Amino acid sequence: MLNPIELDFRRKSLVPGFRATRAHAFVTTSLPNVRYLSGFTGSNAALLVTADRAILFTDPRYQSQAPQESDCEVKIVKGPLLIELSKWLKRLAVKSLAFEQNRISFEDYQQIKEQAKGTSLRAVSGLVETLRMVKSAAELATIRASVLLNSAALEMALRSFTSAMTEVDLAAEINYRMRQLGADGTSFETIVASGTRTALPHAHPTDRPISTNELLLIDMGASLSGYASDMTRTYAVGKIDAKSRQMYRAVLESQLAALNSIKPGITSAAVDRAARKVLKSYGMDKIFIHSTGHGLGLEIHERPRIGRKDSTRLEAGMAITIEPGVYQEGIGGVRIEDTVAVTTTGFEVLTPTGKELVVL
Ligand code: ZN
Ligand code: ZN
Repeated sequence: MLNPIELDFRRKSLVPGFRATRAHAFVTTSLPNVRYLSGFTGSNAALLVTADRAILFTDPRYQSQAPQESDCEVKIVKGPLLIELSKWLKRLAVKSLAFEQNRISFEDYQQIKEQAKGTSLRAVSGLVETLRMVKSAAELATIRASVLLNSAALEMALRSFTSAMTEVDLAAEINYRMRQLGADGTSFETIVASGTRTALPHAHPTDRPISTNELLLIDMGASLSGYASDMTRTYAVGKIDAKSRQMYRAVLESQLAALNSIKPGITSAAVDRAARKVLKSYGMDKIFIHSTGHGLGLEIHERPRIGRKDSTRLEAGMAITIEPGVYQEGIGGVRIEDTVAVTTTGFEVLTPTGKELVVL
């Protein structure tokens, strides 16, 4: 079980958030939010939080797992969880319930509305996600371990790399190494793109053989005890042309500039601008077509988004990625990504893998 004091602290921190909407209780059916607030890792759950109680509803498959993982009151329910939850709303005389408008399904919403007629429903969004932005020391330790595992898996996979491999072969090797090193799995589908396919920011690996004299882009993340890591490296397989080398230089400089701008109090948008400014000086800002990074934790993409329009001020304890990239159709792409912790004095790059251009 996670530290019950930490779990209780998280739920206590949530109370002012839903109280501000004049709700007496909060419900979530979103599994990462359930996990964050209760410790439960199962695949079917609803969590009801009031000022002084937390009740976890799940099905009979989790009869023994749920009380082991969670310090909440556990109710094992046969049939729809929200029908049972609605009975508890009556029992606890909950007049008003906050629900997550961006997370709940329409069907679940309808079910609560029909079953809990005496309870008014208040739409909220981002309450738990805001709490999740700043990680505890224990969470940061898990993210750090996930990052180290991810880098170790890449190193092992590259040791068995041969140019006869296809993108799928290399992706499978990476995934295998992650599992072998103790990961729960990948935190997203491993990206291996070679040649001109590196110009696709989110390429799915194909049966294309990785040939010599071309770029190779690998974007990978492990999930360890539920926590994600995320790293991208771009390699030269044999000789690459001057244009590709210049793209690499520009992206590396841009990534370092964004990293060096990180400190508590700076906005996400300002970090994003630092990355873009360098690429602009290379005339490559127009081919940087995504945001500079994102928060990560129990999910691979969390708040804040390190993008043009995000005004979130960074705080010590946040875990984010910095991943500028440039993509030239028909030629190729380069992206370099690290997982980073925001510290009280600035930042710490958690990813230990080197960033100078490596020729495979
Ligand atoms: Zn990535
Ligand atoms: Zn990423």
